[in-house]
Amino acid sequence: MNLTELARILKITPQELKDKLPLMGFDIGQKAIKVDNKTAQRIIREWPILNRKLEAQKQFDARAKSPTAGEKIEKKEIKINKFITVRDFAATANLPVSKVLAELMKNGIFASLNERIDFETASIVGADLDIEIKPLEETGEEEKQTAEDDKLKRALGKEKAEDMQSRPPVIVVMGHVDHGKTKLLDAIRNTDVVAGEAGGITQHIGAYQIVRKGRVITFIDTPGHEAFTAMRSRGAKVADIAILVVAADDSVKPQTVEAHSIIKAANIPFIVAINKIDKSDANIEKTKQDLSTQLGITPEDWGGKTIVAPISAKDGTGIQELLDMVLLTADIESESLKANPEADAIGTVVEAHINKGEGPVATILIQNGTLRIGEQLCFNGQIFGKIRALKNYRGENIAEAPPSTPVKIIGLKAAPQVGDILEVGDGEKIRHKKIRSQESPANPSVSAEAAENPNIKKINVIIKSDVLGSAEAIQESLEKINTDEVKIKIIYRGLGNISDGDITRAEATGAKILAFSVKTPPQVEELAREKNIAIKNYKIIYNLINDLKEEVQGLIKPVIRRVDLGRLKVLAVFKTEHKGQILGGKVIEGKAESGSLIEIVRNKEFITQGKLTKLQSGKQDVNVVETDQECGLQYEGDPVVQAGDILQFYKEEKIIKKI
Ligand code: GDP
Repeated sequence: MNLTELARILKITPQELKDKLPLMGFDIGQKAIKVDNKTAQRIIREWPILNRKLEAQKQFDARAKSPTAGEKIEKKEIKINKFITVRDFAATANLPVSKVLAELMKNGIFASLNERIDFETASIVGADLDIEIKPLEETGEEEKQTAEDDKLKRALGKEKAEDMQSRPPVIVVMGHVDHGKTKLLDAIRNTDVVAGEAGGITQHIGAYQIVRKGRVITFIDTPGHEAFTAMRSRGAKVADIAILVVAADDSVKPQTVEAHSIIKAANIPFIVAINKIDKSDANIEKTKQDLSTQLGITPEDWGGKTIVAPISAKDGTGIQELLDMVLLTADIESESLKANPEADAIGTVVEAHINKGEGPVATILIQNGTLRIGEQLCFNGQIFGKIRALKNYRGENIAEAPPSTPVKIIGLKAAPQVGDILEVGDGEKIRHKKIRSQESPANPSVSAEAAENPNIKKINVIIKSDVLGSAEAIQESLEKINTDEVKIKIIYRGLGNISDGDITRAEATGAKILAFSVKTPPQVEELAREKNIAIKNYKIIYNLINDLKEEVQGLIKPVIRRVDLGRLKVLAVFKTEHKGQILGGKVIEGKAESGSLIEIVRNKEFITQGKLTKLQSGKQDVNVVETDQECGLQYEGDPVVQAGDILQFYKEEKIIKKI
């Protein structure tokens, strides 16, 4: 048989085969290109055992070598500016993004990929990762970047105090999944009599408004802090006050903790709403206790500063009081809740998608100025189009949108992204600039990293969703579950129902399709079946993430850890059989344990390895024999053990890293 053919059968390279065969006792010579069939069959048959032995020998030699102490490990050094995004930090430090995120989390910082961390934070994380962080000479680049991010601040900063007028507060609802964020947002919406009288056909545009005691309050209607994080990561500060929802029957959960960190990082006031108090197993006191011990939140009635409102989003209990508390908090914050309605409008995109009839539509939350029909909107100097129509959350046409109003814009040439800051601007000078595509391609950082390293397993996915907000939240959450070994590669991200094109794309890339709140037309479903493409439908981001998490977990290879148990000196060989021996000996260190693996050592040289199948002490079968005791043992393996040999007992533990 040809050596290359034999190597192929054994799934190794021909060179590896040539190198290993002599070590295994087959002397075929370095120049040989063929082996006779009989030898080939023997090699194939014995390969797994021989290979394992060779590996064991290698490990033994490696352990026998002096420990790496004394070897100087060069500390990595990187230079960064005052701020750096998590993604850039990982790239500069040549580390997987997941590792940097995990390290940040250990330090209580829940950052997203595009979020910027300051020099001090980078230094702390760097120290944990054994990287020296040094300041980069000022380049001026950073200032430019900051200025871009702070566009909104600058716009407001230019306003004269006498032009500033009070504007409605903008509220975001956050908390753990299933604790009732959506239900609360619905309950609040239902308190609005005006909307009710108008027919109650409220539209989902990403935000809505209510009137309470003659005052308007704006609510961001994209529950789940993933969306909030996505918006915030682009430098957009959209909310003035947060409501942190905690279910009274479930108390503080991981996402409650995470949401609290995000609120703290955003530096906005918040109210805790303890929800589901109608349930028989609701425990308000325990929830308060957990808030206090786990998050350091002390409720007002316990002498602290945080307003905690017990509510039931289901039957409406406490909702009016909660809204009063929102107004009270807004009163305290009144100085910062101001804008100039006469200025050119500037606002943040809270929702964007492509509508069949209307083309690209976006909801923007006006943060300063008033937006009017006919005006031109720009993002970073790129034209997004003239406003043909403005609609409020009730679907009614309006002529203008003052500060704190969420408004759906029709007439855009392209859909912006959630978190983009749009402003009314002069488009003449910038018309030549290219408008960004509405659909973003795969995340380049992950794909490049995974493509380079064949040891990284990839899960290719295509995300299709109803609105950009969900797609962003999904992408961001998926990036968080990447590990060093397994990467989720987003091949494509798009809006709308699943199409033939998605199936073709999935087929070409071996991807599965994650369909979030979108449908698959029957003929596309048929095509997917034909091509064997998996389409997984979701309505809840949490479920999608959980499924992918499970898949990633399943692909993580367990790490085998060797646990040394003890050593025994062989005193006598009682019986030698074809596949093992009966031995007598004395434990000289640690213990002997039935079922453990054995390394046979003679004059400090590794001889072979086997298994301890039975252990006897004074004719009794036992599981363990301790130091200084003599015992009889049944050894399974090459029958080569001699009196005087040392048997080293060890176990192998499989450790599965949890993500
Ligand atoms: P979200 O994931 O935080 O948006 O949670 P949802 O608003 O979807 O609520 C999760 C589940 O809890 C749903 O089945 C709701 O009907 C239920 N739920 C929400 N609020 C209450 C409440 O005050 N009382 C009871 N009994 N159930 C509630």
